Amino acid sequence: MYDYLIVGGGIVGLSTAYALTKRDPQAKIALIEKESSLAYHQTGHNSGVIHSGIYYKPRSLKAKFSKEEGKRLRAFCDLHDIPYELCGKVIVATEQEELPLLDRLYQRGLDNKLDLSIIGPEQLKEIEPHVAGLKAIWVKETGIIHYQQVARALAKEIQEANGEIFLNTKVEKVQEGKHGVMVECGNRTFETRYLINCAGLHCDRIAAIQGMKTNMKIIPFRGEYYEIKPNKRHMVKHLIYPVPNPKFPFLGVHFTRMIDGSVHAGPNAVLSMKREGYLKTDFDFKDFAEVMLYPAFWKIARQNIGEGFKEIVRSFSKKAFVKSLQRLIPAIMDDDLVASENGVRAQALTREGKLIDDFFVVSNEHSIHILNAPSPAATSSLSIGHYISEQIPG
Ligand SMILES: Cc1cc2nc3c(=O)[nH]c(=O)nc-3n(C[C@H](O)[C@H](O)[C@H](O)COP(=O)(O)OP(=O)(O)OC[C@H]3O[C@@H](n4cnc5c(N)ncnc54)[C@H](O)[C@@H]3O)c2cc1C
Repeated sequence: MYDYLIVGGGIVGLSTAYALTKRDPQAKIALIEKESSLAYHQTGHNSGVIHSGIYYKPRSLKAKFSKEEGKRLRAFCDLHDIPYELCGKVIVATEQEELPLLDRLYQRGLDNKLDLSIIGPEQLKEIEPHVAGLKAIWVKETGIIHYQQVARALAKEIQEANGEIFLNTKVEKVQEGKHGVMVECGNRTFETRYLINCAGLHCDRIAAIQGMKTNMKIIPFRGEYYEIKPNKRHMVKHLIYPVPNPKFPFLGVHFTRMIDGSVHAGPNAVLSMKREGYLKTDFDFKDFAEVMLYPAFWKIARQNIGEGFKEIVRSFSKKAFVKSLQRLIPAIMDDDLVASENGVRAQALTREGKLIDDFFVVSNEHSIHILNAPSPAATSSLSIGHYISEQIPG
C-alpha cells in the first residue's frame, strides 16, 4: 500500500512527487510513467522558456506561480548545476491596431509586478537589430532552460528520498475503494491511499476511468517548429514575440533562443489527430473521433473559423509560416529555416465550449486530478507541485 501514487512522469508529476517527499518524508511514494523514459511528452517537446508571467490575469494561479517561480526554479537549478539564462524578451507590435493591445499587456505586466519597459523602434533596434516594430515591451525576467534537465534532477531527488519510479507502466484501470484506490497497469496492480493524476495529454481519461465528473476534455493542439540555420542565428539575440491574440491561449509564432545555442521559430497551433502525434500524418482513430464527437469542439471551431483556417494553411505551407515570421524579422527567408521537432499541447475544453485558461484541478477524498496544465506549467512546475501537495490530506 502506497501513501501517494502519482500518474505521469512529466515535470508536473515529478514536481508533485518531489514536493510530497519534502512535506512527508516518511510517506511511501510511487510515480508511474507509461513511456520508457521520463519527461518525454510535453516536458520534452517545448520552447524551453522561463516565462515571466506578463500574460496572465492577475490573481490567477498562472500569474501567481510564474512570479513565485522565478526564484524557486533558479534556486533549484543553482543547487543542481542546471544551466539557465535570464536573457529577456521583446513583445513587438508591428501594426497600428496592435498598439492598444500592447499597452494593455504592459499594464497587465505592471499589475503582476514585473520589471518592464516600453521601448520605441530605436531602442528595439539596439536590443534586436533585425526586428522591425512600432513599439515593444522589453521583459527582463524571461529566461531559457532545458526542462528535461530539471525533470531528471527532480527524479534523482525523489529516488534519493526513497520514492519509487516505475517506467513502462501504463495505468489502464482505476478503482476506488473504502480506504484508497486500486490502480491496474497491465499485469501489475498498485494500491494507494491517495492518487495524483498528472497524466498531461491523458489526464481527462484517467479522471474519467475513476468516475470523476470533470466537465472537460483534452484537445491536443500540435505546435510546429522550424529551426534557424546556424549561419543565421545571429539574427535573434534574445526572445522575440508578437502581440498575442487575446482570444486564444497561444502566444503566436515567435523566435526562441534555446539554451543549447540553437534558435527555433514557432510554435503554431493546429488540431492534432492523435494526442501524442508529433507529425502532421499521425492519426489515432479513438483520439480523433473523441474530438469530432465532442460538441464543444465544433462550437469553438465555428467561432474561430478564420483563425483556424489560417493555422492550417500555415501548417502546410512553409511560405505562409515564414510570412508570419517576417512580420517580426523582415529579412528572414524560407532558406534560413529547416523543419524541427514538434510538440503537442494538452488544452482543456469545457462542455460549454470554453478553452480553460488557468491551471485547473479537481479532487475527491482519495484523489486529485490536474486537468489543465498548459504553458507556463513547465516554468511554474515547482510551485504547482507545492500547491498540489498542500491540497492533499496528510
Ligand atoms: C509546443 C509547446 C511549447 C511549450 N513551451 C513552453 C515554454 O516555453 N515554457 C513553459 O513553461 N511551458 C511550455 N509548454 C508547456 C509545458 O511543456 C507543459 O505545460 C508541461 O510540460 C506539462 O507537464 P506535464 O507533466 O503536465 O505533462 P507531460 O510532460 O506531458 O507529462 C505527462 C506524462 O504522463 C504520462 N502518462 C499519460 N497517460 C499515462 C498513463 N495512462 N499511465 C502512465 N503514464 C501516463 C505521459 O507519458 C507523460 O510522460 C509548452 C508546451 C508545448 C506542447
